[in-house]
Amino acid sequence: MRTPFVAGNWKMFMSVAEARHLVSEMVPGLQAVEGVEKVLCPPFPSLLAVRALLEGTDIGLGAQNMHWETSGAYTGEVSPLMVAELCHYVIIGHSERRQYFCESDENVQRKVQAALTHGLAAIVCVGESLEENEAGRTAEVVSRQITQGLAGLNLTGTDAESGAASLIIAYEPVWAIGTGRAATAQGANAVVADVIRPALANLFGDPTAQAVRVLYGGSVKAGNAAEFFAQPEIDGALVGGASLKIAEFIPIVQAAKA
Ligand code: PEP
Repeated sequence: MRTPFVAGNWKMFMSVAEARHLVSEMVPGLQAVEGVEKVLCPPFPSLLAVRALLEGTDIGLGAQNMHWETSGAYTGEVSPLMVAELCHYVIIGHSERRQYFCESDENVQRKVQAALTHGLAAIVCVGESLEENEAGRTAEVVSRQITQGLAGLNLTGTDAESGAASLIIAYEPVWAIGTGRAATAQGANAVVADVIRPALANLFGDPTAQAVRVLYGGSVKAGNAAEFFAQPEIDGALVGGASLKIAEFIPIVQAAKA
C-alpha cells in the first residue's frame, strides 16, 4: 500500500505575510484529513515562517529547488544543507526550471543525489512538452528523464518501502501545467504504468518501483482530482495554482484519502 501524497507548489507567489495568513487558514482543514502525506512548498523566503506555523502538525514542508553543492561561491543559490535545516522535502526538476533555467537531466541527477545525501525526500518532476506529445515522443522523453535524472542513486532502507520513501515522482505533462487543460486520468495512468514504473524497475528493481509514490500534476482542481486518484498507478498530486486556494486545495487533499 502506497500512502497517498499531495503537495502544493506555490511557485513564485505569496509574500511572507500572505503565506502566514494562508497557512494559518489552511492548517485546520489539512490536519483533519488523515492517511494522506500533505506537503506545502512555499518560496524560500517564507520557509521559516511557514515552518513555525506547521510545527506540531502532520503537514510537511518543502522547498521548490536547491543547488547540489553543500556550500560555495554560487551567488543566489541555496544549498541542500540549508534546505535540510528547514524542510524535509524538495521539488527537483520542475518543468519551469527545465524550461526557463536550463535545468538538464544531469543537473537533476546531481540535485536528487544531494537531496538524498542530506536526508531530504525528493519530489522529482518529469513530463513531455506539447511538441513532444504531439510527435508521439512521450515515452521516450519521460523514460530518459527518469533514467538519466535518477542514474546511480542508492535508495537505502531496510526494505523496498522505506528505501522508496525518499523518492516521489511527479508526472507533469508540460502542456497541462497552468493551462486548465489537464491530461486524461487514464492517459496519465498509462504513462505511469507503461513508462515510469518500468524505468524505475530498471534502476532500482521491481519491489522499489512498486513502492515509489507517483503523482500526477497539471491543472489538478477540486473538480477533477478524484478521477486521477481513482487510477491504480496514481498515488496523489503535485498541485500548482489550486494549492493557493483553500476551497480548492482542501477538497483535493480529501479526495486523495484512500
Ligand atoms: C505545478 O506547478 O507543478 C503544477 C502542476 O501547476 P498547476 O497545478 O497550476 O497546473
